[in-house]
Amino acid sequence: MKIIAAIANGPRDPFEIEPCELSAPRAGEVMVRVHACGICHTDLAVKLGHIPVPMPKVLGHEGAGVIEEVGPGVTSFRPGDDVLMSFGSCGECSNCRDGALGYCDQFRAINLFGNGPGGSALRRGGSELGGHFFAQSAFATHAIATTRNIVKVDADLPLELLAPLGCGIQTGMGSVMNVLRPQAGTSIAVFGVGAVGLSAIIAARIVGYSTIVAVDVVPERLRMARELGATHAVSGRADDPVAEIVELTRGGAIFSLEATGVPAGRGELHQLPACERHQRAGCGAAPRDPLRGRSKRRGRSGNWHSRRRRGRCQPPAVYPANDRLLPRRSVAARQIRQDLSARKDQRGC
Ligand SMILES: [Zn+2]
Ligand SMILES: [Zn+2]
Repeated sequence: MKIIAAIANGPRDPFEIEPCELSAPRAGEVMVRVHACGICHTDLAVKLGHIPVPMPKVLGHEGAGVIEEVGPGVTSFRPGDDVLMSFGSCGECSNCRDGALGYCDQFRAINLFGNGPGGSALRRGGSELGGHFFAQSAFATHAIATTRNIVKVDADLPLELLAPLGCGIQTGMGSVMNVLRPQAGTSIAVFGVGAVGLSAIIAARIVGYSTIVAVDVVPERLRMARELGATHAVSGRADDPVAEIVELTRGGAIFSLEATGVPAGRGELHQLPACERHQRAGCGAAPRDPLRGRSKRRGRSGNWHSRRRRGRCQPPAVYPANDRLLPRRSVAARQIRQDLSARKDQRGC
């Protein structure tokens, strides 16, 4: 069928909004009419050539929409279902079988470099166009996803607010809930409070940290971090942010999370005093980071969980996390509730 997609051609060219052809869903696949899609740093890194994915390609991996058509053999989803799309996984390798879908042996082939089994579902002007980005390519009016990477959500929830659960939000929340797994009443410092770091703050509030320190160089982000649950905000431009954190946490945060993606953020994190109880995690590896590739670095600076992909989340776990978020007095919850009541007003119910 004819669709419209935003096509990435290369680092120097703007996205081209163009008509394309999308094949019907095959076995195990669904076609989703995309209502909303977040823009993640990975989309931009691929577009800029920092990750050498072949172009042209349709990117977008925080898509949300409504199923229009299901492929042969699909019984767990139906046309009309509201779904969020997340990352793909093979379901057969040992990591998938262990529930660590973000560490799937086929992760790069499925989510970044491949076009899916049987080739790309997208064509432009008769030629194959790169698709299947994170098993969705959601910068388009329609996307093909698989039953492995979609999660059904209630029809009365606003898809445009839920879309980023598919990547950034689950990465931040999962890093706290699944990787650091703290006990209530302890302390955490979150370095970098963009989408991932703010989600980590929300999770830290939910699990009951007593001291939650947000660290960033952008004042607006720090303000939002306080609204979402941070007990303290520290400017990375302060004279000695590390000393400030040490004082606020009475000797150093027991848990730390690095979500800046820049080596300077990690440098500050590793200056914090540490002991065997300290747990630290990073949400991504910065270019030329000396810690890149090391996992579970143990020693004087505590336990280091490097590069916890997608917060060790399984996509179906994303929605319950949101469910727990809704009753909270957070900005996100408030927005969702306001949106819901506006929709009810429009419907007159
Ligand atoms: Zn992402
Ligand atoms: Zn796998």
